[in-house]
Amino acid sequence: MNTKRSKEMYERACRVIPGGVNSPVRSFRGVGLTPLFIERASGAHIGDIDGNEYIDYVGSWGPMIVGHAHPAVVEAVCRAAEKGTSFGAATENEVRLAEAVTSAFESIEKVRLVSSGTEAVMTAVRLARAFTGRDLLVKMDGCYHGHSDSMLVQAGSGIAELGLPASAGVPSDLAQKTISIPYNNSEALQKVFEKYPNQIAGVIVEPIAANMGVVPPKEGYLQAVRQLCTEHRSVLIFDEVITGFRAAYGGAQSLFRVSADLTCLGKIVGGGLPCAAVGGRKEIVDLLAPLGPVYQAGTLSGNPLATAASLAVLEILRKPGVYERLEALSDRLEKGLQEAAQKSGTAIQINRAGSILSVFFTDKPVNNFEDVQRCSGRLFKRFFGSMLKQGIYLAPSAYEAWFVSLAHTERDIDRTVQAAYNAFTDLNTNET
Ligand SMILES: *Cc1c(COP(=O)(O)O)cnc(C)c1O
Repeated sequence: MNTKRSKEMYERACRVIPGGVNSPVRSFRGVGLTPLFIERASGAHIGDIDGNEYIDYVGSWGPMIVGHAHPAVVEAVCRAAEKGTSFGAATENEVRLAEAVTSAFESIEKVRLVSSGTEAVMTAVRLARAFTGRDLLVKMDGCYHGHSDSMLVQAGSGIAELGLPASAGVPSDLAQKTISIPYNNSEALQKVFEKYPNQIAGVIVEPIAANMGVVPPKEGYLQAVRQLCTEHRSVLIFDEVITGFRAAYGGAQSLFRVSADLTCLGKIVGGGLPCAAVGGRKEIVDLLAPLGPVYQAGTLSGNPLATAASLAVLEILRKPGVYERLEALSDRLEKGLQEAAQKSGTAIQINRAGSILSVFFTDKPVNNFEDVQRCSGRLFKRFFGSMLKQGIYLAPSAYEAWFVSLAHTERDIDRTVQAAYNAFTDLNTNET
């Protein structure tokens, strides 16, 4: 694999962009390599500027559920572009997208469109504080909710990869208003509610954690969280930026039959363009300006290209059999990887929730961030390098999910499994 041009481009990038990348997870630092510069993608395949091709399991970190450059999406975006790329005014497609979101999610009565998951969460947090008149927030260790100040405490993948406990530049007064407790542990949540009576504005959680690798909720966990929030009149915020329209069309909440008060959406809801959303109970969301006193705004919110892409993607996802297809492909991948590990005598754990999965290098079950941190980073690094050389593009971080799309084929999956078998075997034979 020749990556000469990517290496040169990285040097150029480093002179003018901090760390050479516009989002730290792209940097390949965690795996001790330099990033590939991507120039095209189609279906489940991406290509770099050296002309190498890969089967892609990053999927832009989640949005590309129908595959890259899907003809229907490309057409929708091109048509929209011809009519103007931004007006800063209300458009019909925003209404159509809001209608699609409110009908997909039972708990969402009204929704505001924003431009990123970070913004969606920031707005949800502000709403929770305004609605309750309280300041404290509770989040779970290893869950990531974007990079707003309040959420950069024990925040999973990006930060964990850099070995930072939290971000510098967040005022400690503010950081202290966010309490981080273990995921999958409702007793810990109960204790926090007892310790801070009538002070907790909201509890935010990824209903299926996917930013410390994939960690599904234990049986009854989300129900217990829901009940505690109701009991203590705290706002329950589900961050479904990854799971919305992926775990199921109606998100993880439709699978587990638990209603959030507020839901954050991003990634898939943007159809591969910058669009995200925050929605939920009317009496909370209606606190937003211009109806209410909570200020929130955005020059590019509900952007015409983004809403066009989004509507095209959601239309594809509403077709019958789509989620069954994703499940079948992902199940094939999980079983294949499991078998490859067994045959090669490698101890791994696979956590899978529908079309997201993670391979953890450990022989113990992984149920929270502490478990994740006990896995071998060294083995992951070598596994990653070997997969990349064999044309499989995984997220360059042990704390991320693999994303399966509708564009992957059985052949892609089987090639991936074969590559994984080779990689596992390598791990055992060249122990250096
Ligand atoms: C990616 C992600 C975010 C942040 O979304 P951005 O669009 O990157 O700002 C928030 N929450 C979760 C669960 C995410 O996976």
